[in-house]
Amino acid sequence: MHDDLSTLPLLPTETAFFFDFDGTLAEIVDDPSMVRIDPTVLQAVERLQVISGGAIAVVSGREIDTLDVFLAPLRLPLGGAHGSERRDAGGELHRTASDGAAIERVVAALEDVARGHDGLVVERKRLSVALHYRRRPDLEATCRSAAQSLASQDVRLLEGKMVVELKLSGRTKGDLIADFMAEEPFLGRRPIFFGDDVTDEDGFRALPRWHGIGVKVGPGPTAATHRIADPAALHAWLLRLVNHTGTERGGSS
Ligand SMILES: [Mg+2]
Repeated sequence: MHDDLSTLPLLPTETAFFFDFDGTLAEIVDDPSMVRIDPTVLQAVERLQVISGGAIAVVSGREIDTLDVFLAPLRLPLGGAHGSERRDAGGELHRTASDGAAIERVVAALEDVARGHDGLVVERKRLSVALHYRRRPDLEATCRSAAQSLASQDVRLLEGKMVVELKLSGRTKGDLIADFMAEEPFLGRRPIFFGDDVTDEDGFRALPRWHGIGVKVGPGPTAATHRIADPAALHAWLLRLVNHTGTERGGSS
């Protein structure tokens, strides 16, 4: 595990950049709908899109439509809903088919739990359902055990920060990264992926096949090769990277 990103030999023209959204590009907030990306960070992402030749994607548990709103006016290649939807660099949308009845069962069960307690929020997505307890951290055990009871071979449980999520698709962030890496302008580059949460581990585990670099944002066990303290440290690194382009040569920053 390396804690110093400044020694990475990284040229934007030879690198494929992948970023998680919440807790990585954006700080975690109490209400997921109130999240906002710092304008300086957004400008750095825009600059990186230019200097990398468009080899930058955001891969998130959120849906693509939601990510577009937060990232506006940028329109980036996106992986959404934990892998079940993807917009490629050409703007084409790829979606995994959904099992409506299975989703309804999970939604109904989690809404039952939320009805019984103030402050819990059920968020329905295309191929998953999330139960947020950011406003009721005291209910963590209740939420986790309710979600565990709904998990099965076809319904995968994701336990995140202040959220449990049941996912009805086998696809992961690792699959998203692999799909992008098979296409221009990502093809043939070395990927670097930044993520902070449990679901990002699938992405980190996929990286060795391209000799990729995984960067875990924050503490906790991880399959990533590198670690950075928090979103603010990532933002500072990103600004340094885009501001040094033209003078940056591998090994120094
Ligand atoms: Mg995250």
